[in-house]
Amino acid sequence: MAIATSYTEKTDEQKAICEMVRQFADEQIIPNAEHYDHEDIFPEPIVEQMKELGLFGVTIPEEYGGMGLDLTTYAMIVEELSRGWISISGIVNTHFIGSYLLMKFGTAEQKQQYLPRMATGEIRAAFSLSEPECGSDVQAIKASAKKVDDDRYEINGQKMWVTNGLLSSLVFVLVKTDPAAQPKYKGMTCFIAEKEPGVSENTGEYAGFMVPPKIKKLGYKGVESTELVFDGYRCPAQNILGGEEAGLGQGFVQMMDALEVGRVNVAARGVGIAQRALELALRYSQERRTFGKQIAQHQAIQFKLADMATQVDAARLLTIRAARLKDAGERSDLEAGMAKLFASEAGRFCVEESFRIHGGYGYSKEYEIERLYRDAPLLLIGEGTSEIQRMVIGRTLLQRHKI
Ligand SMILES: Cc1cc2nc3c(=O)[nH]c(=O)nc-3n(C[C@H](O)[C@H](O)[C@H](O)COP(=O)(O)OP(=O)(O)OC[C@H]3O[C@@H](n4cnc5c(N)ncnc54)[C@H](O)[C@@H]3O)c2cc1C
Repeated sequence: MAIATSYTEKTDEQKAICEMVRQFADEQIIPNAEHYDHEDIFPEPIVEQMKELGLFGVTIPEEYGGMGLDLTTYAMIVEELSRGWISISGIVNTHFIGSYLLMKFGTAEQKQQYLPRMATGEIRAAFSLSEPECGSDVQAIKASAKKVDDDRYEINGQKMWVTNGLLSSLVFVLVKTDPAAQPKYKGMTCFIAEKEPGVSENTGEYAGFMVPPKIKKLGYKGVESTELVFDGYRCPAQNILGGEEAGLGQGFVQMMDALEVGRVNVAARGVGIAQRALELALRYSQERRTFGKQIAQHQAIQFKLADMATQVDAARLLTIRAARLKDAGERSDLEAGMAKLFASEAGRFCVEESFRIHGGYGYSKEYEIERLYRDAPLLLIGEGTSEIQRMVIGRTLLQRHKI
């Protein structure tokens, strides 16, 4: 009798990598996260070690110096990193989306130019759709690019909430190149905008590209979220993703494709934070005693643990399913939307339940759950809010089951 392979079953290679990343999270991320979170400073030493471990090139093909692994393995790695601290996975996340865009849509020259340095982490990428006046409604963006001479476009406009906005060297930025296009999405183009990492006011060939001071946030500290201001920034036509001829007007489609893998990535982050919240709850509930016994022996607490563990497993299964479908070259928009919706809500749920189990100590900055409580809500928003996921799921369901 054939036995179906479990969704969570790992290959020997996946087991070895996950064990390595888990050890890295236990030894390097978790003990140091509190410091970087409280001070809201970029965790440079951790990032340097991630470069050495090759974590910036997990999905980049070996010919460009990466590990050439699939989305499923990447999702497993992201879970482990996020179990440590979601800001760490945030540093990798938009970089991963940028490398995906290059691998799928980039010209041979663009791949050669950027992927080898991205694989080592020498340069990092950011991904920029959102603007001050729009996030969910991507087609409403106002930033624009106009051809000003034979081989240059001038980009003007403002972007918002750019993760890795300051320290990245490349920004995959969506702008309008034909504001009158109908339907609107056909008038949008993705540029690979280069800049100096760590510089707020670029000069020379990158003049006209400004990065205002980082946005102060509830959680998700350490990794910077910034606005970007383009004011007469001149970008070579060859930096249109896919080249000018093939890429002009294709930006919306390219970015939406990338969001699908981005959603699997955020789902994996939800699983990671939920898993950590469960671990903390399991430990604390066996340490703390009330009414003469461990609180874990009260049925009300056990029910919480049971619900959390069930949510963690369900979220992981949905996430791995979406990743495996994508790896198999099958359509996975519905499944990626479900995974993102469920796993991000599971992250929030498990963190809140764990927080409650910690009683008053959950409110203290000395307990890890306090950081998780501030970090978890981000996952409900990034890569599309829960409402937007439901719209994607509903729309796709109706397309697939049209009568
Ligand atoms: C820390 C952080 C990091 C981020 N990083 C990036 C990044 O790197 N790159 C990037 O491009 N963006 C990034 N974002 C932006 C993020 O993708 C947007 O915030 C998100 O898409 C929501 O957009 P919005 O904030 O404009 O909310 P809005 O679109 O204004 O939505 C507001 C509310 O209305 C709901 N809503 C909107 N439309 C509908 C509808 N049709 N039906 C029902 N409800 C609806 C939403 O679900 C939400 O609850 C980041 C955001 C944060 C907070």
